[in-house]
Amino acid sequence: MLNRLNRAGYQSFLVGGAVRDLLLGQEPKDFDVATDARPEDVRELFRNCRLIGRRFRLAHVRFGREIIEVATFRDDCVDGVETDDAGRILRDNIYGTIDQDVWRRDFTANALYYNIEDFSIWDYTGGMQDIQDGVLRMIGDAEARYREDPVRMLRAIRFSVKLGFDIHSDTESPLAELAPTIADVPPARLFEEVMKLFMSGMAHSSFEMLDRHHLLHYLFPATVDCMRMDGASSFRQLLTHALQNTDERYHAGKPITPVFLFAVFLWGPVTQRVAAIRNNRHGDVFWLHQATDEILAEQQDSVAIPRRLGMPVREIVCLQARFLKRTGRRALGLLEHPRFRAAYDLLLLRIQAGEEDPEVGEFWTALQTMSPEEQAAAVNVGGGGKSGSRKRRRRPRRRRGGQATDAG
Ligand code: ATP
Ligand code: MG
Repeated sequence: MLNRLNRAGYQSFLVGGAVRDLLLGQEPKDFDVATDARPEDVRELFRNCRLIGRRFRLAHVRFGREIIEVATFRDDCVDGVETDDAGRILRDNIYGTIDQDVWRRDFTANALYYNIEDFSIWDYTGGMQDIQDGVLRMIGDAEARYREDPVRMLRAIRFSVKLGFDIHSDTESPLAELAPTIADVPPARLFEEVMKLFMSGMAHSSFEMLDRHHLLHYLFPATVDCMRMDGASSFRQLLTHALQNTDERYHAGKPITPVFLFAVFLWGPVTQRVAAIRNNRHGDVFWLHQATDEILAEQQDSVAIPRRLGMPVREIVCLQARFLKRTGRRALGLLEHPRFRAAYDLLLLRIQAGEEDPEVGEFWTALQTMSPEEQAAAVNVGGGGKSGSRKRRRRPRRRRGGQATDAG
């Protein structure tokens, strides 16, 4: 990749996270390349190349399963970059040279350029020293850089947690005042960032650190409000267990899903909402659905949860009511629900947090291991006719969409 660009007469470097991670002895997640070739030039050179992005035009070059992101050097001269009234960067497609490109990068540790031709590392910002010292330092004036792009605040937390770096005091101090500017970031972009924060084996520390810096509130407002309420210690405990469990699964190489975490995040606010809006005109299940829809809809203003995830989140939350109905064919049907496993995991967490009777969990735990005949007896479904034919269809439960927990 780098060689081909160089042979074609372009300057090209490995840059960003990969250089940083290699220096730290960690395995890079992906590879970013910086070059003086324009995106169109890159497309000429590589067959498997796609140009993406409007705000920030990039070339994606595919090598097997790997996608390498190739960015043309940018100039950060202020008049070339489109910003809004708040100083936010709207578009940044003014091309430049490497010694201009370096200043628009976020942290010194992310601004090292590796030149494959002579194996040298080009360091304009003191990134080598900061990596050695374990310090995360914003390039330039931190406050201005956060104003340009508030997502950099979330990146500061993410890299600090991921690398175990201390955030330099100049880089950390503006966070307190600027945290509310997260609200200006498009919810879809926040979703991308939240995925990186919570799906990389460091969900629990990220959550705690985001909370400490008052950033969490702008991502999951209802969750934070609920956590702060008097007597909400059980909700906090539930969150902690879910986050820790997700991290353990990640490190054990087991599948993890954001759906489960989102369901847990919204669980507290949903139960609170149920208590606030319920009346005798409808039953509990109605109000649970109603509250879940409201809370999910309100969440879309901060971190947008895409529809494909929102539906299963809703199911996991709403299935909690069905665990209480332990008789009849519908109870057996619950075992076959695609979201049973994740909902059951949430149930166990709720029991662990003292929210639900342990007996309910024991029932559903036992039911899963029974033969069809035992199951029918357990839910008081008599033999004969229809229920008999349903019984025969009972198959070993599939694991789908769920996250096993050690709870219960
Ligand atoms: P990782 O890939 O491990 O999450 P990374 O540092 O490679 O971390 P990317 O999001 O892949 O992060 O971005 C690659 C590089 O682009 C960064 O190292 C940084 O130099 C620059 N960069 C990315 N996003 C921003 C931003 N919002 N502001 C300034 N520079 C950025
Ligand atoms: Mg990267």
